[in-house]
Amino acid sequence: MSFSGGYIFKNYEGEAEPVLRGMPVPEKICIPISGSPEGFFTSAVSEGETVRAGDTIIKSTDGTETAIVSPVNGTVEKSDKDGITIKSDGSASFEPVKNHTREPWHLDHEEVFKLFCATGCSFLLDNRFSSLDKCNTVKNIIVNSVHNSPLNRSWTPEIIGDSALFSSGLKTLKALFPAAGIVIAINKRNKAYFETSEIKEQAKIAKVSDRYPQEHPELLSRDVLNKKLVSPEGETDESIVVISHVDVIQIAEVMTQGRPLIDRIMLVSGPGVSTPGWYRVSIGTPFDELNKRLFKMGDLGPWRIIRGNVFTGQGVESLDTSVMFSDHEISVITEHAARDLFRFMMPGFAADSYPKITVANLINIFPKKLETNVHGGLRPCVQCNYCDEMCPVDLYPFLIWKHVEVDEIEECFRLKPYDCIECGLCDYVCPSKIEILTSVKKAKDEYRLLRRADENSD
Ligand code: SF4
Ligand code: SF4
Repeated sequence: MSFSGGYIFKNYEGEAEPVLRGMPVPEKICIPISGSPEGFFTSAVSEGETVRAGDTIIKSTDGTETAIVSPVNGTVEKSDKDGITIKSDGSASFEPVKNHTREPWHLDHEEVFKLFCATGCSFLLDNRFSSLDKCNTVKNIIVNSVHNSPLNRSWTPEIIGDSALFSSGLKTLKALFPAAGIVIAINKRNKAYFETSEIKEQAKIAKVSDRYPQEHPELLSRDVLNKKLVSPEGETDESIVVISHVDVIQIAEVMTQGRPLIDRIMLVSGPGVSTPGWYRVSIGTPFDELNKRLFKMGDLGPWRIIRGNVFTGQGVESLDTSVMFSDHEISVITEHAARDLFRFMMPGFAADSYPKITVANLINIFPKKLETNVHGGLRPCVQCNYCDEMCPVDLYPFLIWKHVEVDEIEECFRLKPYDCIECGLCDYVCPSKIEILTSVKKAKDEYRLLRRADENSD
């Protein structure tokens, strides 16, 4: 399956090696309570108490028995309404999950759901699954096994877990969402892993494009199911769940093997990472600890730490924040504010540019650099159409930007700015350094605001 637009990123500095490593047990972990995805939570431990990795430290008060377990062995230093801090003793052992079973799909629906909540696995999906009824509304599950983002093309599914474990994860999902069919979206290059009879019994396989941002949930839904995930008005189709390959593996580890949910399997990559690759990082690890152990902050900095991929992630503002359940990827790229005038004349072998104006794009031998610098100043649009060419949802970003610039936002609604998935490719390729996405997003937000106002006035 293919689509127009998108981009294949090849040969960038800081690409992840296809290896899964364990990160040493952190000195302390901090887990906020107020920021918990489902809201109703309270501490289950007291200051000074000794805990084992796998013991419940935070529990729900909404009757679902949802729990968060301690990611480390150690002593509770702080426990209040805001969160829990545990000083670790450095040991890596853990308490196995109580009541886990090798084949949870033989339990009845209520028991599977209870186990799913009590082990904290519900945090790996979004917070709408707070009851059995809500699980029954799901009709389609897309497992996202696509990896096309700039620093992650070398991913192979074997490094995260074998296909038998993956198949157990699929069976567990089927037991949890009995009304749903499963489709696994994959890159062709990884197809051998998915061709076991066990996997094929559980799910259909859809080979999708090798171009970024195919892994975006909206594009997966469009290309795999032929359905829109989010409507123009911003409503999400609740019958569709998109779950990452890693999350299927981690659910299987917890519910079928009894390994408590104490860490996240995450991609940590970019030129600012000493050994880019896949890591098991304890939940609650402060970014400060990642900085000391994995990042090159002292060397040739400064760096920008991004939670997510370099185009769609959010910059980390404080090293005191911690790794949480929703983290899948951390990128560290060069923070480079200097302007390179006459960029088109740059002889650098590492300079990246979509139009073939740098040596690096003509002779793709040396790894290219991803950095925050936009290189050069804002210029008038040269009508090159690169942004149109790149857009994976067939918008005319340039035309939308023009309308927004002259304050004709409502006139550009016919150009469907609400379909923008905010992949950032238009900004990336624009040789005139125009912040196109900011304008498209403005038009999209305005459209949704007006539609909501219309609905309220009806
Ligand atoms: S307009 Fe939106 S979807 Fe299209 S390239 Fe730009 S950011 Fe991506
Ligand atoms: S990429 Fe930039 S310069 Fe080219 S058409 Fe789009 S807005 Fe204009």
